[in-house]
Amino acid sequence: DDDDRCFEPGPPGLLPDGMRGPDLPPMQPTYRFGDPSLPVSRYRRQILYLVENHATTIILGETGSGKTTQVPQFLFEAGWAENGFSIAITQPRRVAATTVATRVAEEMGCDLGTTVGYAVRFDNALTAGRTRIKYLTDGVLLREMLDDPLLSSYSVIIVDEAHERSLATDMLLGLLKKIQRRRPDLRLIISSATLEAAKLRDFFDGGTVSAAAAKRRAAAAAAAAAAAAAGSLPPPPPDPNRTPAVVTVEGRTHPVQVHYLETPAPNYVHAAVESAVSIHCEDLPGDILIFLTGQEEIQAAVGLLEEHARRLAGSRGYSLKLLPLPLYAGLPGAQQQAVFRSTPRGYRKVVAATNIAETSLTIEGVVYVVDCCFVKQRCYNPLSGLESLLVAPISKASAAQRAGRAGRMRAGHCFRLCTEGDFANQLPEVTVPEMQRSNLVSMVLQLKALGIDNVMQFEWLAPPPAEALVRALEELHALKVLDEDARLTPDVGLALAALPLEPGLGAVLLASRELGCCEEVLTLVALMGLHHVWAPAQGAVHALEEAKAKFATAEGDGVTLLNVHKAWRSNGRSAAWAQRHFLNQHALLRADDARDQLLGLMRRHGLLPADKPPPSCEQDMESVCRALAAGRFMNAAVFERIEYNPLAPEGDKGTPVFRLVRYTAQRTNPIKLRIHNSSVLWRSMPSCVVYNTVQQADNGWYEMQGVTAVRPEWLVELAPHMFHKPGPM
Ligand code: ADP
Ligand code: MG
Repeated sequence: DDDDRCFEPGPPGLLPDGMRGPDLPPMQPTYRFGDPSLPVSRYRRQILYLVENHATTIILGETGSGKTTQVPQFLFEAGWAENGFSIAITQPRRVAATTVATRVAEEMGCDLGTTVGYAVRFDNALTAGRTRIKYLTDGVLLREMLDDPLLSSYSVIIVDEAHERSLATDMLLGLLKKIQRRRPDLRLIISSATLEAAKLRDFFDGGTVSAAAAKRRAAAAAAAAAAAAAGSLPPPPPDPNRTPAVVTVEGRTHPVQVHYLETPAPNYVHAAVESAVSIHCEDLPGDILIFLTGQEEIQAAVGLLEEHARRLAGSRGYSLKLLPLPLYAGLPGAQQQAVFRSTPRGYRKVVAATNIAETSLTIEGVVYVVDCCFVKQRCYNPLSGLESLLVAPISKASAAQRAGRAGRMRAGHCFRLCTEGDFANQLPEVTVPEMQRSNLVSMVLQLKALGIDNVMQFEWLAPPPAEALVRALEELHALKVLDEDARLTPDVGLALAALPLEPGLGAVLLASRELGCCEEVLTLVALMGLHHVWAPAQGAVHALEEAKAKFATAEGDGVTLLNVHKAWRSNGRSAAWAQRHFLNQHALLRADDARDQLLGLMRRHGLLPADKPPPSCEQDMESVCRALAAGRFMNAAVFERIEYNPLAPEGDKGTPVFRLVRYTAQRTNPIKLRIHNSSVLWRSMPSCVVYNTVQQADNGWYEMQGVTAVRPEWLVELAPHMFHKPGPM
């Protein structure tokens, strides 16, 4: 039974007997189970057999074949969630974790948060001691390891969407490999939509079973048989095969015909809308799925589609009406669910989605895919230390996945919004793992907190660039998270590891305690964790600017956000008020939740006293700005000059150029920063600022978002180890 290609389905229900205690209450009897018509259902027995006998099982299968929703139900049914154990399924995206949990609870006929639940950062639906199937983000499972390093409450951990190669998934795979050595009873399932199994299999290969292990196993089997015959002691759990097993789920897919543009499109949002409308006007049945890169583009596309829908509704001759729907991470849950509902009679659904629809979520009924061939991606330059979001071409592997979404129901069509030549020459074959294009500060902090001191020697599925690791160590040292020997410091290091925040933002929160503005900064940090507090409405750009201007202050975006939150609170947290001011009510409510959780965590870890409210600075916003400077000094930039564009229209005041403070010593530093036009400080010229994030724009510019004006002296005061004297400001 050591053959890793053990494809023969075994007898069902062969659980390691030690895991079934005789004195357990019976399972709740009333579950309905899953959807037997899905491709993965035909592999149920085989999967259960392999999971029982192998430490690691790799499941490959097309999107929509049932890996995410069905496999946990098979395991539950077979008894893997008895004896106090649960089954964990990780997802790289929070939207996937919440929607899939909702779906599975529905299939099993239980309320979400009882037997089936989810946990994502700052939000969960769980019942302690009762939730047996738990969908969580890979990041949340990593945090659970801080409290329970061997993840001892789980009998099976399913790492789903492994092909995405998110930073947290890669990190998790490395750590799970370590845990497996200590917990032979733990079973790992890795599921992936692509056929890159060889790499995963090699990574998890525990080697051929040693003679000693074989002997142990024979002895265990003999003891089990003897015990069973005597009807007494439960036998010990078997020693699983350490060579991963691989199952390939053959799905039902139909051919998809791919079309390209004749000439490149200048604006892919418009091109996507036009393609969707011309597909619609062909008047053949089938829903349309459009891939775009982010919320703004999706809202713009949905707005344009709605205009077309109105126009077309007036003209006769089309049998279907257009029903445009958005799908992206920041969308309120109810609206997310709308795309999964079956299309009403007489309508054609047109879903404009981000990458979430590539493999994480399946939308039924799609026959046409319109692909802009771009994605918003993290990218990191370890030399400049700048991590930014960049709209980049997708890989050919991603493009194939996206096209595949059109072939689930019947033969479909995929329209790629680029020329065939550009597709062949400009797109990389595969996506670079996130680990290799990210700032690693958070990851290194977490590894250190888990007791992994030598991060250079950690077993990686794909090692990150050495410069990026060195850079992360330097930054953590600058934040006083690590001491001279690269060990976590007891005050800052341990505290920041306990907070589910990126270390710089965590440092802002810690600094606010001494500055007496914890009350305000808790709210601010929670708000800053959300990307979209403002909800731009179609065609109301000017009105949004006016609304923003009402709350804007010269201190910058941080204090402006606090003003917004305060006004919303004093208007009874009213949804109507939020809408009138172009604010995202859902995001504001979530921020309140996040704030409460952060406050709870700080109290639990002794970072704030439990018996009194956190200190508040009332009107004194300077201390809030100081706190921001204290955590964000790595992101400090000074005003340098105005750059005039010779081609700009007359009257153009030019663009203020900023430079990173930590680079002012290098005269040749080529990085030019400017303030993003979403900032209240856009076009103004504070002498020194700190920013929250940067985004790459054209021509070598980096645009700062979440900008706060600070005084250069503060930087010297707050981080004397970084800034010796006021620089050239
Ligand atoms: P995989 O993980 O293999 O991509 P899933 O388990 O996610 O597949 O999906 C299996 C089936 O369940 C698909 O046909 C999909 O349409 C359906 N499904 C999944 N989530 C939902 C949902 N929230 N609402 C309706 N149907 C869903
Ligand atoms: Mg899935």
